[in-house]
Amino acid sequence: MTTRVWDYLPEYAKEKDDILDAVQTVFGSGQLVLGESVRGFEAEFAAYHGLGHATGVDNGTNAVKLGLEALGVGPGDEVITVSNTAAPTVVAIAGAGATPVFVDVRAEDFLMDVDRVAAAITPRTRAVVPVHLYGQCVDMAPLTALAERHGLKILEDCAQAHGARRHGRLAGTMGDAAAFSFYPTKVLGAYGDGGAVLTADERVDRDLKQLRYYGMDKVYYVVRTPGHNARLDEVQAEILRRKLRRLDEYIAGRNAVARRYEERLGDLVAPDGLRLPATAPGNTHVYYVYVVRHPRRDEILEALTRHDIALNISYPWPVHTMSGFAHLGYRPGSLPVTEALAGEIFSLPMYPSLPESVQDRVIDALRTVLETL
Ligand SMILES: *Cc1c(COP(=O)(O)O)cnc(C)c1O
Repeated sequence: MTTRVWDYLPEYAKEKDDILDAVQTVFGSGQLVLGESVRGFEAEFAAYHGLGHATGVDNGTNAVKLGLEALGVGPGDEVITVSNTAAPTVVAIAGAGATPVFVDVRAEDFLMDVDRVAAAITPRTRAVVPVHLYGQCVDMAPLTALAERHGLKILEDCAQAHGARRHGRLAGTMGDAAAFSFYPTKVLGAYGDGGAVLTADERVDRDLKQLRYYGMDKVYYVVRTPGHNARLDEVQAEILRRKLRRLDEYIAGRNAVARRYEERLGDLVAPDGLRLPATAPGNTHVYYVYVVRHPRRDEILEALTRHDIALNISYPWPVHTMSGFAHLGYRPGSLPVTEALAGEIFSLPMYPSLPESVQDRVIDALRTVLETL
């Protein structure tokens, strides 16, 4: 059997009664859309973060898009982000009608190089989308200071960083609003699609609740600005309520998997060879993915397939090199760190209920491959 980088079935085996009870709760509730479960999840997700408001939406891409729209971003605006991210970050910026502008990432931790943001600001810049990539936070303090000086909004892309902290503060509580995805692989994952936007700002929250509901207010049922149908599904919301109670356990489980990789691969680390993920000072990591780096990545992945191990690359193609974004005018060499990383990174299996036997099989195969490279 080929080893998978992610698998929800071990978790489902443990949590089946609770998950199916969540489904029954909704099916028997008499309200299948925007009912008690969405409202309950929104309140509990906001409370977990110590913030006033959360809006459940249908996926993380729309969380970014509606989040930007609620912050006033639209056609003609530029939004600064990174190219080393999941494509949906950028698709959502384009979906809001804005133009994505990329800055490079730091070689040590693959996160937005905040020092480069000032040079990317133009008179059309309206917002910045820092991506808390792979499970740890961007250096937010200098970014929020810069945004304040230039009157820019910050939407945190937290799709990979549920429960991650920077200097004790939770991801999603450091900008004007924050977008989350509950795609099944994420640190807090649904049994299907889901997303949410967090904010402390009551007006932004009110706009979000209209934007996901055709742009209609729920008092007069009148559309003033056409919006979207982008509601979080009631069943997914109830499952997420159950799973939110276990979020800190999931994070501890991911950290235990990461520690085991460090213990069993640490001796193979070399400046010109294997490099394991580095946690930036001040961060606590939630290891959405466990991304390692090696200059001979392609040979390693090829050799691992002979051990029946297929690993992922997050992400093999920087967004600015994708044909769908060619019109933005970036060229090979535009973002040298991002481009170099894309050729060298790969991900080891990571999920809280990853069986040790599976992890050991990957570790043993990787050791064999690296020692005979
Ligand atoms: C997963 C992800 C998204 C999109 O979330 P979906 O729920 O799949 O739409 C956006 N940004 C980042 C960084 C992601 O990892």
